[in-house]
Amino acid sequence: MAQLQPVRGTQDLLPDMLRRHRMVSETARNVGSLYGFEEIATPIFEFTEVFSRPIGESTDIVSKEMYTFPDRSGEELTLRPENTAGVVRAVISNGLTQSLPIKFSYSGPMFRHERPQKGRYRQFHQIGVELIGVPQPQADIEVIALGAQILSDLGILDRTVLELNTLGDTASRVAYREALVAYFTPHRASLSEDSQRRLDTNPLRILDSKDEGDKALSVNAPAFGDYLNEDSRWFFDHVTSGLDAIGVAYKLSPRLVRGLDYYCHTAFEFVTTDLGSQGTVMGGGRYDGLMNLMGGPDLPGVGWAAGIERLALLIAEPPLSTRPIALIPVGAEAEKKALVITQQLRRAGLTIELGYSGNLTRRIKRADKIRARIAVILGDNELAKGVAGVRDLDSGEQVEVPLAALQDHLAPFR
Ligand code: ATP
Ligand code: MG
Repeated sequence: MAQLQPVRGTQDLLPDMLRRHRMVSETARNVGSLYGFEEIATPIFEFTEVFSRPIGESTDIVSKEMYTFPDRSGEELTLRPENTAGVVRAVISNGLTQSLPIKFSYSGPMFRHERPQKGRYRQFHQIGVELIGVPQPQADIEVIALGAQILSDLGILDRTVLELNTLGDTASRVAYREALVAYFTPHRASLSEDSQRRLDTNPLRILDSKDEGDKALSVNAPAFGDYLNEDSRWFFDHVTSGLDAIGVAYKLSPRLVRGLDYYCHTAFEFVTTDLGSQGTVMGGGRYDGLMNLMGGPDLPGVGWAAGIERLALLIAEPPLSTRPIALIPVGAEAEKKALVITQQLRRAGLTIELGYSGNLTRRIKRADKIRARIAVILGDNELAKGVAGVRDLDSGEQVEVPLAALQDHLAPFR
């Protein structure tokens, strides 16, 4: 074996970290169901077009981050870099558009060939929601409120800022695009190579550049707010006043654009300063043209995705699961008996760790190490009397309990 290392940008999730991931995804699923979102899972790979068309050839994702490969039968496939396109594809494929709105949540791995850093990986995980079929700003408000409540339940809402912007409708975006081209063209030579290309293909993307020079130039770029038509202004006013009404705080961020091409109207990100430059924990917005672009009916949509790795780093250590009961048999006869008792107790819902070898002292040590609450000691003496020694490992107190009463005696430690 050449290298016993995980592939660059991938990582093993050891139990402590996986417990954090579970906390994030379970919280998202539970809060999501309070808002009427049901969980969906789509395949991890799709035909490449599912992503390349809607996400846009001029985005970083499609131009350089996708894991694309021909499979053994020559199909052009891509490991999903995000899940909105997959969910929309699933809605169309399964003909789910008869009954609206559609409200889905998801959780799972995504793949992007990026430069790995803390909070940025090549295989990472996202939770997300999609609300399809509602053109009114209520949907935007609900989806943002759901995101905020998940962050709040995770105990990290007050460590994030909700940055909010509007990308307007198509007409507004055309006007804004022209203004951006007019602003950046005289500075073309100072833009990064990527942004020089963006200036021709998709100038809005320059505002999302991570290049320091581009960022400095973007500070004085025209703001979208000055190019909104009446409809777009109306829509955004409803979103902001709705958020005000339910007490979701936000900061207007006039140059916030999102990494994908299919967004319109509401764009938002929850950002923290506690993770260095990988500060965006959740990002989303409205994608009214996406379903139609993908060959489905012309239905609007709004949603967000959040990085589980980034959230997992922010949350407090989740409580450990139930402390186990260590069953410690000493002697061959006791080993046999212990096997049967263990099985009975586990069937009754108790968490039992069976000591495997060593003398009593070593096994008690091991019981301490696994944070056992109780040690049940089964030696020849105990067996002869038909009892077990039950030791409280916190207080050190030990009592004898008849084997027949063991299950009831241990029930409080379930
Ligand atoms: P960034 O600006 O950090 O590259 P993005 O705009 O590409 O983010 P989205 O496509 O909006 O990210 O994905 C939503 C969320 O998924 C991000 O806010 C982030 O929390 C997480 N995320 C995106 N890419 C990665 C990655 N490579 N590793 C870990 N988390 C990621
Ligand atoms: Mg990115």
